[in-house]
Amino acid sequence: MAATAEDSRVGYRDLFSLLLEKRTTVVWALTLTVLGTALGLLQPLMTMRLIDRVGTGESLVVPVLVLAGLFLAQACVEAMGQYLLDVAGEGVVLRLRKNLVNRLLLARIGAFDRQRVGDLLSRVGTDTTVLRDMVAGSFVQLVTVALTAVGTAGLMLWIDPVMFAVVIATIVAAAVVVAGVMAGIRGATEQSLAGVGTMTADLERALGNIRTVRACRAENRETERIGADAEEAYASGVRAARLGSLVGPMMEVAVNGSFLLVLLIGAVRVSNGDLTISALVAFLLYATYLVMPLAGLFSAVTLIQRGLGSLKRIQEALRLPVEATADAAEPPARGHGPLLELRDVSFSYGERQVLSGVSLQIPEHGYLAMVGRSGAGKTTVASLIERFYDPAHGAVLFRGVDVRKLEHRSYRRHVALVEQHTPLLYGSLRDNLTYAAPDAGEDAIREALRTVNLDSLVRGLPDGLDTEVGERGLRLSGGERQRVAIARALLAEPDLLLLDEPTSQLDTINEAELAEALLKVSERCSLLVIAHRLSTVRAARRIVVMDGGRVSSMGTHEELLAGDRTYRQLIESHLIQSEMSAQES
Ligand code: ADP
Ligand code: MG
Repeated sequence: MAATAEDSRVGYRDLFSLLLEKRTTVVWALTLTVLGTALGLLQPLMTMRLIDRVGTGESLVVPVLVLAGLFLAQACVEAMGQYLLDVAGEGVVLRLRKNLVNRLLLARIGAFDRQRVGDLLSRVGTDTTVLRDMVAGSFVQLVTVALTAVGTAGLMLWIDPVMFAVVIATIVAAAVVVAGVMAGIRGATEQSLAGVGTMTADLERALGNIRTVRACRAENRETERIGADAEEAYASGVRAARLGSLVGPMMEVAVNGSFLLVLLIGAVRVSNGDLTISALVAFLLYATYLVMPLAGLFSAVTLIQRGLGSLKRIQEALRLPVEATADAAEPPARGHGPLLELRDVSFSYGERQVLSGVSLQIPEHGYLAMVGRSGAGKTTVASLIERFYDPAHGAVLFRGVDVRKLEHRSYRRHVALVEQHTPLLYGSLRDNLTYAAPDAGEDAIREALRTVNLDSLVRGLPDGLDTEVGERGLRLSGGERQRVAIARALLAEPDLLLLDEPTSQLDTINEAELAEALLKVSERCSLLVIAHRLSTVRAARRIVVMDGGRVSSMGTHEELLAGDRTYRQLIESHLIQSEMSAQES
């Protein structure tokens, strides 16, 4: 994708405002750079003085010492300038990384349906690094080139206008050609970075599901696919390199050609007596001064092209829509009518309608079960209640208030969700349990563990609650993970607890105990349990049957058994398992 002029204008403006935030450091760095360049420009003049004294019998000690001093001072000043720029570059990266992490964690859930996580990761890792290199590497070069160009041009013009014209003509010709090549390099670099993003995303997906990859014997296919991503990045990289390699020889031809021309013209002028040898030497030194940083200019422009490509990707991530409600209100502590209501809710993830006209009510301290075939839209209902998405039509009301008017985070304090596939986070069992309620006390934790029947497990652990779980320590079974997640939700003391198939990984004994526990829980808060085990379903005061994105009927087990075909089918086809059929299977 070639960058448009509009893109690069926006890119440069954003870059400028980034640097503006580090202005003290940047200004100091630039001051030192200017000083270093000036010290450099004095050197040919001192050389000229030195050559003029040769053979006159005057002492050379002073000009040699001055020259040595100029070299030393220039080196020191430039080193300090570079250090400051590196620091500024790191500072810019740090700020961007923090902003990116914050933005990604706040982004609407829908953003993660569209963007691959790995690609987002590479924007935080790789792209910020590219940007740092640009800030640290390119500005010294640009400023040095600009100043040296102006300084040397003036001095060369002063020494010999004719030879100066020759040098300028060659440089302008070379610059026009190089500018054309640079545009191509930027496009190729952007493609290469996009390739790296795809590769990271695919690798992340494969490693995240490494067991499935192994079980399907897909290692080689994944290696090939990810290798193909890498090759795409390689191809764009090679294209950038090919264009880049053209620039060097073009510059060299221009440089050496003009050097030779200047030498020839200079020789003629010296023999005519229009120019001293020392002035010719100084002119040639300035000519190299003008040309050497031009090579630096090339690398600086390359860095900037790369940097702008990365900046664009970073800004895409920074502009991901976040969860935010203007003038968001706190959820009411009490209200009239039901705790939660879905009123004629329709929703689609993209083209296809997933929910149509869903209406249901969960009273305060109510216990509602939801059943339906896989794909009926049950998880989507839970996602809408948790406000991962907002409905396209209709509304979700919490104590009579449209949840779109409520602040996301304070609303979610009232509505806890245990997902179908319950992940553990890093850290100890205690960290996992108190993730939603960091201040939970020991007693509360014990009680939650008892409720989900995990207290005996914890008693058997060497470090008890402080045992590391997940990747680095104790491996929990699916059922145990689910119960940890339920305990985590209970500890947050929500008004409404959403459980998405909490029993899918439990054996029947645990399941029966959990059903009992849920009855206890239902005295403390409202429950919506998406379930497929009969004991959990029957314990509910009311059952909602979902079918094809609609509520097909509602009622008690007996009512539905007598009057709802879908419900009977679910039972008959063992999609709702009775304890007997679960034991048989
Ligand atoms: P259930 O939980 O009843 O099995 P879901 O609510 O998970 O059903 O899914 C309902 C429909 O929506 C399914 O057809 C599913 O493919 C689709 N779906 C679910 N999540 C997403 C998503 N994040 N993006 C696109 N489609 C989705
Ligand atoms: Mg589901």
